[in-house]
Amino acid sequence: MSIFNPGTRALHQKLGLWIALMGLVLALPCSALAQTSLFTGVVEAIWGDPLPGSSDAGHFRVQLRTDDGALISIPSLGPERAALAQLAGSRVELALSEGTADQPAVQFLRVIPSDQGDAMLGGAVTGSQPWISLLCKFSDVAAEPQDLGFFQGMYANQPGGLDHYWREQSYDLIDVLGSTAIAWVDLPQPQTFYVPTPGSGTDANLNKIFDDCTAAVDAVVDFGNGGNPFVGINLMLNERLDCCAWGGSRFATLDGITKSWRTTWNPPWAFANEAVIAHEMGHGFGLPHSNNFDDDGNPYDSHWDVLSGATASAVSDPVYGLLGKHTLAYHKDRLAWIAPAQRFEPTVDGSYHITIDHLALAATPNYRMARLNVPGSNVYYVVEVRDQVGDYDGNLPGNAVLIVQVDSGRQEPAWVVDADTPPANANNNEGSMWRVGETYVEPGGGFSVEVLAATANGFQLQIVVGNPPLDPVFEDGFE
Ligand SMILES: [Zn+2]
Repeated sequence: MSIFNPGTRALHQKLGLWIALMGLVLALPCSALAQTSLFTGVVEAIWGDPLPGSSDAGHFRVQLRTDDGALISIPSLGPERAALAQLAGSRVELALSEGTADQPAVQFLRVIPSDQGDAMLGGAVTGSQPWISLLCKFSDVAAEPQDLGFFQGMYANQPGGLDHYWREQSYDLIDVLGSTAIAWVDLPQPQTFYVPTPGSGTDANLNKIFDDCTAAVDAVVDFGNGGNPFVGINLMLNERLDCCAWGGSRFATLDGITKSWRTTWNPPWAFANEAVIAHEMGHGFGLPHSNNFDDDGNPYDSHWDVLSGATASAVSDPVYGLLGKHTLAYHKDRLAWIAPAQRFEPTVDGSYHITIDHLALAATPNYRMARLNVPGSNVYYVVEVRDQVGDYDGNLPGNAVLIVQVDSGRQEPAWVVDADTPPANANNNEGSMWRVGETYVEPGGGFSVEVLAATANGFQLQIVVGNPPLDPVFEDGFE
């Protein structure tokens, strides 16, 4: 009934999703087979983020860009919908049936191995990642909220600039060198043509904005960038969109290059604080949101991740406003920015002493994270350290160990554990910060993490897994 073909790469990353989808597909009633439509195209994933500080909801779309240019929403697959986002950029065959209540049902989703399909956006991101900012004015709005120099300078390799920022985030595994911006151009239509209700709703025509904005600059922009094609496009608009700024991917052909372009759509309030642009570019790199532990459906109330509360506990820059902070170790690991040797992952029961350094440190002989699995569960935990240091993490709530629960089936896989009962509405609280002398015990008793001492760049921890032997293992020689 359903066939899932692995691509030539990233098999291990997709396998969990296929298994999950397979279970769902097989669970569909056979009556749903009555009217089936088959589509072929490329998966796009796009996140919509409201103005920081508002209590509005976030939005998430997974859609198929078909070979004839149509756009089809891929129906909800329950918890697996979040994992589906990791197929962004993949070429797939999708069969939909009538389903129930006007909601089509997925009969099968098959990944088609191809050069384009292998350009998956949900996996590792390394190397040079040049972006271009396109500044586009609605035809009835004359304002130019910032000048060209502002947008060009935003990519600088100096503190506060996005090249500097992404180099530090990735430990120099990526840069955005060669990124640029081009002067304001006019869109052919007025604001309400693209955005029927500015400032609310979700009906901004992101497709038309992308198409018209890239067409408006076509005469002056080579998206092939002289042989070093841009990977991403930051669309900067001169007035509001709908509820949100948006970030994700768009499959399109520009200057003869057909691929999934990392893409963001930004109203003026987005580029007023560079943290929002960093957040949207993070979606462009395939990252989802993370969350705090209050389970309130709001994915913007963690202060520890640019991919959650982007502007919360952020460092301020006189030109670019609030800056992005680091993202969680779980996200860095997803993008392959944490070397295997810097990920502590015990495979046998034991008592381990390790040192984890803070995530903003450029280089370290110690660990950057620990991954602790829970036997018999798909949930695992990531232990990381965050300090109030540097150009981006300098205004965090404190120097602390974070315990992050990861469930890849959730819309936001990573939740920062909070010891408070009930968990706080925002996690700039002591309950989310493990300090010297405090111990976290996994609810099922699978492991414990005790914070033994602060070091120059992090914390010494004792991690006890399962029923350990009497003699502890000293991973780094201290006792
Ligand atoms: Zn977002």
